[in-house]
Amino acid sequence: MSAQLLQIKDLSVKVEDKEILHNVDLNLNKGETHVLMGPNGAGKSTLGYALMGNPRYEITDGHIFFNGKDITGNFIRTALEQRTGSRIRLWNFRKELKNAMDILQMDEEYADRDLNVGFSGGEKKKAEILQLLMLKPSLAILDETDSGLDVDAVRTVSRGVEEYQKNKNGALLIITHSTRILEALHVDATHILVDGKMVASGDSSLVDEINTNGFEKYIQQ
Ligand code: ADP
Ligand code: MG
Repeated sequence: MSAQLLQIKDLSVKVEDKEILHNVDLNLNKGETHVLMGPNGAGKSTLGYALMGNPRYEITDGHIFFNGKDITGNFIRTALEQRTGSRIRLWNFRKELKNAMDILQMDEEYADRDLNVGFSGGEKKKAEILQLLMLKPSLAILDETDSGLDVDAVRTVSRGVEEYQKNKNGALLIITHSTRILEALHVDATHILVDGKMVASGDSSLVDEINTNGFEKYIQQ
């Protein structure tokens, strides 16, 4: 079986009659962490929304394959297999939940609150990462997970993502225009999106290069 989890081929996406993404390619294997960077307005979130099947984002060209299956016009949300598996014992679940909440420095009291009702920005992000740790999806797309968080919250969220990475079946597409959240994370590949086009791909050293020089060189291309 191929290790290829997500294959984006020649993808073009239109939003309200304007083509935002132009012939984008991206290949992500099982368990890998990829980073998608680019200046504001490059189309990063558009790619995330198109992958998740937001109806406002129309795929006009190209294909998306998930686990080798063509899911263009079907999308990851519906293509994800239902996790049935064996039943989880409540005691084990509670232990795992407590462990995950400890990592994220969440008070036990959160577990009794309605999801996101009255949560602060930072608490919502932590709740997202908690879902990641408990649901263990084979792919997660994190769009600007670190935006609006203070330094300590970024560190906490990053620790949670690091924990998710330990589950080798879990792949990540981290969309970000800053690099704060990446400092402690293992990165397999980096992609640079400018004006709806993939202009560069490389390893984690590309993150460091962007950190030092910004996107200027790629915008001028
Ligand atoms: P990024 O996430 O890289 O900052 P976006 O994907 O949010 O960029 O936006 C890319 C371009 O697409 C921008 O010019 C933005 O105005 C436009 N765009 C994105 N979503 C919509 C939408 N729902 N309606 C109209 N324009 C949109
Ligand atoms: Mg965005």
